[in-house]
This record gives sequence, C-alpha cells and structure tokens, in this order.
Amino acid sequence: MSSSADLRFDNRVVVVSGAGGGLGKAYSLFFASRGAKVVVNDLGSGLKGEGSSASAADLVVDEIKKAGGDAVADYHNVLEGEKIVETAMKAYGRIDIIINNAGILRDKSFKSMTDKDWDDVLNVHLHGAYKITKAAWPIMRKQKFGRVIMTSSAAGIYGNFGQANYAAAKQALIGFSNSLAYEGFKYNIMSNAIAPLAASRMTATVMPQEILDALKPEFIAPLVAYLTHESTKQTGGLFEIGAGVVTAHRWQGTEGVVFKADDSFTPAAVKARFGEISSFDGPTTYPTSMKDNDWLGKLEVAKKLTTN
Ligand code: NAD
Repeated sequence: MSSSADLRFDNRVVVVSGAGGGLGKAYSLFFASRGAKVVVNDLGSGLKGEGSSASAADLVVDEIKKAGGDAVADYHNVLEGEKIVETAMKAYGRIDIIINNAGILRDKSFKSMTDKDWDDVLNVHLHGAYKITKAAWPIMRKQKFGRVIMTSSAAGIYGNFGQANYAAAKQALIGFSNSLAYEGFKYNIMSNAIAPLAASRMTATVMPQEILDALKPEFIAPLVAYLTHESTKQTGGLFEIGAGVVTAHRWQGTEGVVFKADDSFTPAAVKARFGEISSFDGPTTYPTSMKDNDWLGKLEVAKKLTTN
C-alpha cells in the first residue's frame, strides 16, 4: 500500500472547478479513487476562454464511474459559482472541499493588453474562485468543516513578462486564501494556495517535451489531497510544486532603517540609506502576519530618535 493510500476521503464532497482536463482532471480522478464524491465542473472552454462543451466534464465523470467512483458533472461558468455549489448540494447534500482550479490565459504585453483581456482573466481566476467559495462558505461554517485550495502560479508570485492580467489574478488569490485562513480557522476551514507546474495544454506550447514528460499533472494531486484532508490543520500556506518537488514559501523582510520622524526625513535621506533599506545581507525578518511587522515597536524607536 502506498503511503498516500491511507489518506482517504470517504463521504467527503469535493468540488473541482475546471476539471475537464489538465490538473483538475487529475485531482478529480485522485479524489474519487480515494472515496470522495466529486463535482466535476468545467464549461469546456478553449485555452483563452472561448467556446464551451459539456463533453469535457462528462468524459471525466465517465472515467470516474467506470473505475467504480462517484461523480457528477457540472457545466457552469465559475462566475456562476452558486450554481456549482447548488449542483453539489443537490447531488450530495454537503460540500467539504473546494479546489479552485479553473483558468484561462490571455498572454500579451501590457502595452497590447485590452480591457477585455484583463477582465476575462481576472474574472475566471479570481472572481470565479470568489463566487464558488462565497456560496460554499456558510455551508462549510455550519458543518464546521471545509478545505479550500486556491490555484496561484509562479507568475503570480514573481510576475512574468506578458502576464500582467494572469499574475494579478494569481497573486490576488494568495491574499484571498490567507484572509480566509484567518476567518475560517475557528470553523475548521483551512485555506491554502498552491503554485503548480505541470504539463497541460497551458504549458504544452511553452516548454520542451523532455520537461513536460517530467511534469505530470498527477504529481500535483498528493499535495492538494494532503492540504485538504481532514487530518491537516495547515492553513494560510503557499506551496510551489512540480515534478514531485514541493516547497513552502514565505515573506522575508530586511531589518530596514528607522528614520528620525521630523523634517530631516527627506527623499535625499532615503536615497542615502537606500542600500541599507533594500539589502538582504544583514539581519532579516520573516513576518507571517501583519502583527509580525511590529509597527508599534518601530514607532517607539522612531519616537526616541526624534526626541533625542
Ligand atoms: P487547463 O487549461 O488544462 O485547465 C483549465 C480548465 O479550466 C479547462 O478545462 C477549462 O475548460 C476550464 N475553464 C476555463 N474557464 C472556465 C470557467 N469560466 N468556468 C469553468 N471552467 C473553466 O490548464 P491547467 O494547466 O490544468 O491549469 C489548471 C490551473 O492551474 C489554472 O488555474 C492554471 O492557471 C493553474 N496553473 C497551471 C500551471 C501549469 O503548469 N499547468 C502553472 C501555474 C498555474
């Protein structure tokens, strides 16, 4: 028996958005193989969000059923998240896990990006995740159980040429997830963000075959399953994952410079000490929450400098 086989999801209801192909399909098959009831959502659009087809979700549901699993198809646009949640409630009467995964690309340099390119990408990734999670939130709170995954991206963490819209959405999902982590914890709702790297139609044209072969979508599922299992209390995390390599990420700050808070605090004063402000060579901090920034402590130092 493999070590992941003992993390079962019997009687858990999982909604996977954009589950007709790529990562979403891999998650759906994985959860179903471990006893979960899966709502396979996909409107069956093209990579850029064009068109729709019910067959994408249907094929995944057929595959799950053939293997003896339990799944229903849902063809709604994620922007109608409440209807996707309704599908889960009608079919199974609860909703335990949401994998916000649906996505499209409209890569263009910022100069050429249209309002529509911006809006469509933000809508599917960010607003779609919002709509599904918002509709499921009261149900999860009432159940005192919920697990949420937000699918971010390395482009969202670091930024990427030609992906201003996509990166904005993907970074926003991290802040969204981190805030839900605070609000959900006392209701046993955990939320985490992942930045996956996997071979799919999204990456097929931008990576060589040799690399794509190592990046199977199936290699993302074990982390997603661990993070959404009832035994995990991990929340507010950000994980990069691809080809079996899993890393956790956090913020790092410089110790910074405390200036005298008077009229000596000028742009020229900042310029003179900008090297110190931005150098990570000295002591650094690893804030994990707004509180860790210790603004009150810094204020005290600034006050002392000013009165001296
Ligand atoms: P994919 O194109 O194979 O899957 C995305 C799915 O979402 C498609 O089946 C599509 O039909 C569906 N979809 C699109 N718009 C939808 C909508 N409005 N409502 C419902 N479904 C919709 O791509 P993938 O690589 O499997 O990507 C899955 C997620 O992972 C995306 O959010 C993507 O941004 C993210 N991601 C992927 C990679 C990677 O390396 N593949 C890297 C970083 C992030």
